[in-house]
Amino acid sequence: MNSLGRKVLVAALCALAFLGTLYVLVSQELDAWHDASAYVMRDYQRAILDGEFHAALARGAGELASFALSGNLDYLDEAREALDRARAAADSLQALARIEKPGVGLDHQQFLQLQQGLLKAVQGALDQVAALPADGRAASEALASIYGHEADGDLLWRSITAHHLAEKEENMQTLHDHSGRAHLLFRAGLVTCMLVGGLIFYYVRRRMVAPLTVLADLTRSVAAGNLAMRARVTQNDEIGQLQRSFNQMMVELGGQREQLNSLISNLASSRDTAEQANRAKSDFLANVSHELRTPMNGVLVSLELLHETAPNPDQRDLADMARTSARRLLGLLNDLLSFSRMEAGRLALQSEDFDLRALVRQMVELHGQRATAKGVAVSYRIDDALPGSLCGDPLRLGQVLLNLLDNAIKYTDHGSIEVAVALAEPAAAAPPPAPGEEAPVWLRCSVSDTGVGIAPEAAQKIFQPFYQVEGTGSAWREGLGLGLGIARELAQLMGGVLAFESTPGQGSRFWFTARLMPATRCVKAAPAAPPPGQLPPGKRVLLAEDHVNTREVMARMLQRRGLTVATAENGRQALELARAQDFDLVMMDCRMDVMDGFEATRGIRAIDGPRARVPVIALTAFGLTGTRQDFIVAGFDDLVIKPYSLEDIEAMLHRWLLRPGADDAQGVAPAADAA
Ligand code: ADP
Repeated sequence: MNSLGRKVLVAALCALAFLGTLYVLVSQELDAWHDASAYVMRDYQRAILDGEFHAALARGAGELASFALSGNLDYLDEAREALDRARAAADSLQALARIEKPGVGLDHQQFLQLQQGLLKAVQGALDQVAALPADGRAASEALASIYGHEADGDLLWRSITAHHLAEKEENMQTLHDHSGRAHLLFRAGLVTCMLVGGLIFYYVRRRMVAPLTVLADLTRSVAAGNLAMRARVTQNDEIGQLQRSFNQMMVELGGQREQLNSLISNLASSRDTAEQANRAKSDFLANVSHELRTPMNGVLVSLELLHETAPNPDQRDLADMARTSARRLLGLLNDLLSFSRMEAGRLALQSEDFDLRALVRQMVELHGQRATAKGVAVSYRIDDALPGSLCGDPLRLGQVLLNLLDNAIKYTDHGSIEVAVALAEPAAAAPPPAPGEEAPVWLRCSVSDTGVGIAPEAAQKIFQPFYQVEGTGSAWREGLGLGLGIARELAQLMGGVLAFESTPGQGSRFWFTARLMPATRCVKAAPAAPPPGQLPPGKRVLLAEDHVNTREVMARMLQRRGLTVATAENGRQALELARAQDFDLVMMDCRMDVMDGFEATRGIRAIDGPRARVPVIALTAFGLTGTRQDFIVAGFDDLVIKPYSLEDIEAMLHRWLLRPGADDAQGVAPAADAA
């Protein structure tokens, strides 16, 4: 048996033995008390008997004496009755003889003498009374002698009574003693029980409850993460075993935590290395795609110029084919750049006012031509409840919409495509606007097509990078499998979601939501493009571009639009020209040797006089950093993203050269104020 159990057993046995002893002692006292009370009862009975005896004796003796004194023998019958009573008294006296103890005030000898004397006298008297008729005188004398013994009888009676009283008192004393002892024992038992109970409580508290409480506290601090705690081993029983096991467990836990920590730090360093490698890969991708975009610009604009100037239809067809391929290549480059920015966590949103309806219309009209060429009708619907202009990132919103539209066109060979833009319910997890803050505008854009649809088994995978569903015609080969992943990331950046539903063979509907703000909150937008028209002749444009081919092609393109063009190879030349001559527009490449576009623009803004306010348009391939807002803050009025198409350049030229007031004063640029 274990030691704690043994202790409990020993304690229980001790308690049992103690209670047994107490029971025996108390019951003995109670028995004695019972006996004593029985004695007392018997004494009382005896006292009553003795009283009766003495009364009878006294009465008999008295009557005989009066007979004797009167000498009246006429009442012989009465005398005989008196004798009978005297005989009864004698019987009682004989009973007296059985009492061995002397009465109070008499010693044993005296007591016996008195007894015998009295008996003898009574007997003699009786004998003589029996012979009364014969000798009345003798009888009278005998009676007188009895009378003479009356005083002795009285003395005897008093002695016996006193004896009985003394005996009674003695019994009462014994009774009192026993009951006192029983009370004492009872009290002692009570006090001992309390003491033993207190001792047991103290023992249990000190040896069991206190160590368990300490262990419970330790367990709590372990739960809070403190593994350095140890329990003090205070005893050698089960509790001590528990304390030792706890300490052992803590040692093991400590070891495991150390292992875990080293594992975590290994993992963290592996993760850092992986992230570094990933960043290096993303940077590489970004740089490569960025560097590819600059020559692509030359290719695109040259092809467009070639298409415009081709002398015969064959050459125009060829130029058109080359232009289509170049545009596709450009799409791939754009996807790669966005993907690398997304991977590097550097996809950021701009915030500017824009015309939502114009954005959707332009997108559908521009790209819908490809669908129309395939015989697929494209339509769009914009909810009237939507505000005309909104604040957000039109570039990214357009990118998501374009991706969905592009896919719909790619994977639909007949039927129709519909773009719908409407107000949406706020996202469930979106926090409500703070007091005083304007409520956002939630947008829902959907693109429905009647194309090939998506099989359920592919549904989970189409958002994975580089995943393409094979067997969707030849169209799947045209992409990289990046578009939907980027689009979903952008939708999430805009606070919304991107999802789809599809029935294989019947078509798909992709939709996304976005959180925008009402227009008045944001920076001023670039002036809206005026209605298309001829550019006024004689306008002077300064073109700063270090890439010789691009510069050449762009200059030709601008000249073909009737503009007078001055070119600069770097920022410094551009700044000198801008100081020396009046221009209506400056087109400034941002990355140039000797002096970059940013510094040159700052120099232009520092010129004294109105030349400082000439509109400066940034030509940029963006790279990994920078937003439109950064360019505006740096002093530019607008920007065109490389690689640009002729439409982009034309839209920009119209925006700045045909804007109201462009002819009023040289170089006045309203957007410059916004910067
Ligand atoms: P890709 O550049 O290949 O189009 P995406 O990420 O845009 O890459 O799309 C991934 C895959 O999802 C595509 O390969 C295509 O199989 C499928 N997909 C996307 N949109 C549609 C659609 N509207 N109809 C049918 N399949 C689609």
